[in-house]
Amino acid sequence: AEAQVHRHQRLESLGQLAGGIAHDFNNMLGVVVNYANFVIEEAAEPTPDLSAISADAAQIVRAGKRGTDLTHQLLSFARREVVRPRVLSLNATIADISEMLHRSIGSHIELLLRPAADLPPVLCDPGQIEQLLVNLVLNARDAMPGGGELVIDTARLGARVRLRVSDSGAGMEPDVLERAFEPFFTTKGSGSGTGLGLATVYGIVTQAGGEVSIASTPGAGTTVTVLLPAALDTVPPADLSDIAVPAPGR
Ligand code: ADP
Ligand code: MG
Repeated sequence: AEAQVHRHQRLESLGQLAGGIAHDFNNMLGVVVNYANFVIEEAAEPTPDLSAISADAAQIVRAGKRGTDLTHQLLSFARREVVRPRVLSLNATIADISEMLHRSIGSHIELLLRPAADLPPVLCDPGQIEQLLVNLVLNARDAMPGGGELVIDTARLGARVRLRVSDSGAGMEPDVLERAFEPFFTTKGSGSGTGLGLATVYGIVTQAGGEVSIASTPGAGTTVTVLLPAALDTVPPADLSDIAVPAPGR
């Protein structure tokens, strides 16, 4: 049965964030310390095994790389209030990064773009919209290891613009769906998921005055729906400086 989750209640608590970060970094530093110790021990052997040393060093590099990936995600998560909203077309943003999306999902997944013809613009930071799309598309990819269909469509809904990302993948059990937006909640195991993808999406959408919801059916697929206010009568901020404002009372 399809279940839905709407995210407007509890945003991440600081404790949750701190606990998640501490846990992840602790794991990564544990790997670094253990493998660095192996390297020291191996190097102290009378005839050091260089290939073993190099394999252990590779583990250290992997753990370090995961640390920098996590800090980058954390930084963009924390920095999300520094945004530069512009009047932009979601269709154009999707088209701009479609190459990159195609490449990141691989050829076993079919990506279908269904942009609405009459789509009004939205007032958003283009970098944030790209980040949102990438996060949703990567989740869809992860849900379809054996291949499937990924559809990105847009539509006008009255004064709002709807963006949907649908996949024909594994779907989510109700207990997973319930927690999907929680920062650091992941079912992907340490080493792959950070659990920050949907939390970031949530932050971006609510900051833009929109809403995000997920509908998912285990074994059948998932649809993430983003609703953003249409920028119908918005003057692009960049143009304001060119408008002569009459003196009040005239
Ligand atoms: P991550 O991808 O790092 O695990 P996210 O915040 O992006 O973190 O997603 C949280 C969890 O929600 C995932 O681990 C997964 O269990 C579930 N999820 C998200 N998107 C999908 C999807 N399209 N299909 C199935 N499960 C999903
Ligand atoms: Mg993700």
